[in-house]
Amino acid sequence: MKVVWTLFILFLLMGCTHSPPSAAKDRVENRGTNKENWWDKLPREAWKKFERLDVADDWFEVYQITPNIVAIYEPGQFEEVISYLILGQERALLWDTGTGIGNIKQVVNQLTDLDITVLNSHTHYDHVGGNHQFENIYNIATTFTKKNMKGKPHDIAKEFVEGDWIWKSTPADFHKDTYESKPFTPTHWIKHGDQIDLGGIELTVLHTPGHTPDAICLLDSANRLLFSGDTFYPAPLYAHFGESSVDTYLESAKLLATYQDSVDYLLPSHNEPWVPSDYLGKMAAAFQMIKDGNKEYVETDGAKEYAFDGFSILVN
Ligand SMILES: [Zn+2]
Repeated sequence: MKVVWTLFILFLLMGCTHSPPSAAKDRVENRGTNKENWWDKLPREAWKKFERLDVADDWFEVYQITPNIVAIYEPGQFEEVISYLILGQERALLWDTGTGIGNIKQVVNQLTDLDITVLNSHTHYDHVGGNHQFENIYNIATTFTKKNMKGKPHDIAKEFVEGDWIWKSTPADFHKDTYESKPFTPTHWIKHGDQIDLGGIELTVLHTPGHTPDAICLLDSANRLLFSGDTFYPAPLYAHFGESSVDTYLESAKLLATYQDSVDYLLPSHNEPWVPSDYLGKMAAAFQMIKDGNKEYVETDGAKEYAFDGFSILVN
């Protein structure tokens, strides 16, 4: 009986700190346009099966995903962005550098002594925030990328750290009043089909424009994994920005669908780190339905939101 009561009290205590997760519906809600109390969805169930690693900066939650892959997650800010450190035998690749709110370099230094190459899934502010801290940065050479490498001044970037965008306390050396997206200098231009050898791990770059012109995915054939960036995550996909293109997104989704049977899991850049690869086919079918006008939508803050099983698509 005592055990039952202890469990009950524990259950109540847990309920006080966050709302209980309410299944699949939550998976498509966050990353929509409504930011009110978005953090009620945390912590996400998906992270619980991975070992959490202790790091100096608790702005980040860091998880061991596979023996060679570490996820560096920022659940304190609305984007819930995930950067990944991929460790080879000779060097390491950092797939994105987060919002720049916490010190990602310090975290990475704690995790490895290997030389680091940064590769951005694309150059939206929440993926390049720590780029300026690194010397070796790979990007794809689009006009969009070249504009974003100049950074974003405080006047624009301040929006992302105000009001409901942040719920967690920020690191002591972070200052909301001066937050900006710092400029960075790419040191190497990559292109579709390029191979990156980390020693024991070989990665292939897939150019998958649509969300942005410079959106890429990263294929690890041997381990049957695909880093899907912002091209796929289990939440509203953003195809509604000025820099987005639904037609191009459809072509990229079709290309990715051809990899569905060669990979088992996707490692997306937002919300959760490990989702089944059959979403690739579902995403291609979804974009095709939108293009063919065969799908109902709802208006969400000026964008059209098309809902599918486990994700949705925002279109202008
Ligand atoms: Zn993005």
